[in-house]
Amino acid sequence: MEYESYYFVKFQKYPKIVKKASDTAENNLPQRSGGKTRRVTSDSCQNLPKISQQRPRSKTTVGKPGGAKPLHREHPKQELVNHTHKESADFGLSISGINKGSGEENIRPPKGQIIDFRGLLTDAIKGATSELGLNSFDCNPDPSERLLKPLSAFIGVNSEMRELAAVVSRDIYLHNPNIKWNDIIGLDAAKQLVKEAVVYPIRYPQLFTGILSPWKGLLLYGPPGTGKTLLAKAVATECKTTFFNISASTIVSKWRGDSEKLVRVLFELARYHAPSTIFLDELESVMSQRGTAPGGEHEGSLRMKTELLVQMDGLARSEDLVFVLAASNLPWELDCAVLRRLEKRILVDLPSQEARQAMIHHWLPPMSRSCALELRAELEYSLLSRETEGYSGSDIKLVCREAAMRPVRKILYALENQQSESSSLPGIQLDTVTTADFLDVLAHTKPSAKNLTQRYSAWQSEFESV
Ligand code: ADP
Repeated sequence: MEYESYYFVKFQKYPKIVKKASDTAENNLPQRSGGKTRRVTSDSCQNLPKISQQRPRSKTTVGKPGGAKPLHREHPKQELVNHTHKESADFGLSISGINKGSGEENIRPPKGQIIDFRGLLTDAIKGATSELGLNSFDCNPDPSERLLKPLSAFIGVNSEMRELAAVVSRDIYLHNPNIKWNDIIGLDAAKQLVKEAVVYPIRYPQLFTGILSPWKGLLLYGPPGTGKTLLAKAVATECKTTFFNISASTIVSKWRGDSEKLVRVLFELARYHAPSTIFLDELESVMSQRGTAPGGEHEGSLRMKTELLVQMDGLARSEDLVFVLAASNLPWELDCAVLRRLEKRILVDLPSQEARQAMIHHWLPPMSRSCALELRAELEYSLLSRETEGYSGSDIKLVCREAAMRPVRKILYALENQQSESSSLPGIQLDTVTTADFLDVLAHTKPSAKNLTQRYSAWQSEFESV
């Protein structure tokens, strides 16, 4: 179990541990003499369980077909194996003692000796980090990759919990999404509020006590494509918390009762990996108002919603560093009980004129190299920013992309129609993207959320907290 957990932490999947049926090598195991433990070589390990699953990326041989090499490592305290730290870099684990009846006395530790699997696991992780050139087990050894605590202590013996935990764990960001605050154009007020609610309480906990105790829930709402998910990704990048990126597909299970358990496991996992941020994207799809579904709501769905509310209540009452960040495009569809628990609500509105101008300049600068060729743009940025009123950030990005595509399309057409087979680009000059091009694209691209603006403002005046 420990090894499985370790493997899961490392590769986000469980290994298949199988026992080799053939008994040809059973009697070939070297005998241990005089109580001294000898390192069992890979050749003599043939009757030890093999890990049949191929490792996705590794220098080690564990899992290689025909070449399984479960290296023997015992915990250093037991002085059973005089291993060096270099060996631990293989993070091979001895699975001795599992294989009953095949020379097990040779590989089982002498009576009275305890194998410290937890120490072994920690060592293996340390080994992994030292292989990467790092000296200690750090929560974030490589800024782009996160190493999580093993699930063994969390899972216990319950295999059902293990499966559910595996489902939820798939949505933990192990890789840094690499979105900095500065990558988000405009939205200064929203950025500031998110920092105050999530980032600073973790960075300066001593300031956030008593009446200033940190918020437990924050709702980002507003038209689609305005940067709500981007803000959440910036939180994941900038705070060193375990980030659970949860959408309806994670917690809505077709199996009756599973959704409810998934919600419970999600919060328990978040507490286990604390400090954590649970990001619930498109909250309305899991937390729409109860009892409004046509034909009555499914009992399982009601139970899942209740569980979510109970768990959020639990957070509010606890000292755990677990924070719920939710995003919704349709806040008026949310159940009022969940709104009450998302104490802080922030409108992430359509970009202002200034932000639109910055966006167009960002995506279509006067000179760029977005493809193999140089792309030039001669745009009246301030005029275009006025013309794009009501467009969201993602709409503007789409228009910029389409405008940039125009000169490229001409080249593609020429390349496709030329007689020779060569498709070389040198010497080809792309046309400049002009204001007229941009306006033409704009005429054919409608803003995706303009007619909802008033509804957001009305909802804001009714529900937004200070
Ligand atoms: P939503 O609000 O629906 O969650 P997203 O955050 O997913 O929207 O934004 C969609 C895309 O639009 C982003 O990947 C980004 O490229 C672009 N975008 C939207 N708003 C901004 C912004 N303020 N700054 C930079 N890019 C933005």
